[in-house]
Amino acid sequence: MDSIEVAGGREFLARLEHGKDWRAQIETFAEREGVDSAVFFGLGAAQDARIMFYDQDEKEYEPVEFDEPLEVASLVGNISWLDGERFAHTHATFSRPDGSTAAGHLDRATVFAGELYVRTFETTLERTHDEVTELDLWPLS
Ligand code: ZN
Repeated sequence: MDSIEVAGGREFLARLEHGKDWRAQIETFAEREGVDSAVFFGLGAAQDARIMFYDQDEKEYEPVEFDEPLEVASLVGNISWLDGERFAHTHATFSRPDGSTAAGHLDRATVFAGELYVRTFETTLERTHDEVTELDLWPLS
């Protein structure tokens, strides 16, 4: 396991805007505040969602669409640079009225309501291609 020590930067509380995309709003926020690395968590509700399941054999993301109202029971993620842009790597657990869940790597979701906590770090992290997984990962060594 590779790691680096980071110094804590700033903390934010945010309310996401109804009708807008979850991840895009986080990335717009990161751009506006000049965030080069951060972790966040949130909760709320979404009107729909698309998660991407990574097929470890094919090494490709497969989209899974949910066109229904969903509770955002839990959402976690981090912000770093990817291909010259700030990227909010976001995972979410959604729940339905019967309590069943859908979860995964979040591509997009339309916000019904959302709240977010963000903690930034005084470190610039840029993802690089990992040949083993074919994912864009943090280079921490
Ligand atoms: Zn992911």
